[in-house]
Amino acid sequence: MSVRAVTSLTNPTVKAVRALHLRKEREATGLFVAEGLKNVTEGVELGHAPTILMFGKEAAAHPLTRKSIAATLAAGGEALEVTQEILAKVSRRDNPQAVVGVFRQRFTPLEALKPDSADVWVALHRVRDPGNLGTIVRTADAAGCGAVILVGECCDPYSVEAVRATMGSIFATPIVRAGEAEFADWRKAWPGSVVGTLLTATTDHRGADYVRPVLILMGNEQQGLPPEMAALTDVNVKIPMRGRADSLNLSVATGIMIYAAA
Ligand code: SAM
Repeated sequence: MSVRAVTSLTNPTVKAVRALHLRKEREATGLFVAEGLKNVTEGVELGHAPTILMFGKEAAAHPLTRKSIAATLAAGGEALEVTQEILAKVSRRDNPQAVVGVFRQRFTPLEALKPDSADVWVALHRVRDPGNLGTIVRTADAAGCGAVILVGECCDPYSVEAVRATMGSIFATPIVRAGEAEFADWRKAWPGSVVGTLLTATTDHRGADYVRPVLILMGNEQQGLPPEMAALTDVNVKIPMRGRADSLNLSVATGIMIYAAA
């Protein structure tokens, strides 16, 4: 296969990529969209070849675009030079990125995790906001966390908004999905500390005894951690709130916890 030029918005591949904005389509295909040369290059460098690569004329000659084109074609994918209009529709942005890649989703099974392979791990209970989730994945990658575990019904880590917020870390950080009962069972064999975060906790997050590997458990944006989840931890901690704000944004609180435990 070689690079093809596509100019029609009704081209079947263009339509298929646009449809990946819908969660049900991502679930049905197991695919997701990553926008921008940095994100796409990150994927390619970490061994995730795009199944479809779209790029504008002006990006075609860039050495990193050429590398991504080569990786796409070598893996049997489609490489398409497309118009600005197609890039805008595919990204739902007036000012789209010049390169867009479609990749296969990868979820790591809970039982495949090796707790001793990293000092800090993150579990999110019923996270709802894709921007928070993407930012947490990026922070977990930056701090060398072992994985981000999504417990219960969470937003999709492979939505365009979440992937955007990861800034490429979606390819580097193992993502795990687990039901609440499954997580509760698996946690019994955790060799280090499981630390929950609760606004009602009396232990300061800097005063807790963190035994590595540390598994940090964060709550939902609206409800926080429910009692049955808080009961699964060794200790629950609070980040001091000294002003008028009654809580921190979930991704900010997770960042503080990750670096406190690291
Ligand atoms: N109304 C919710 C509650 O009562 O928990 C607020 C949830 S807060 C926006 C989302 C999550 O961020 C919390 O479940 C907790 O994991 C974490 N969080 C936010 N502020 C925190 C703090 N000061 N100390 C510990 N965790 C905090």
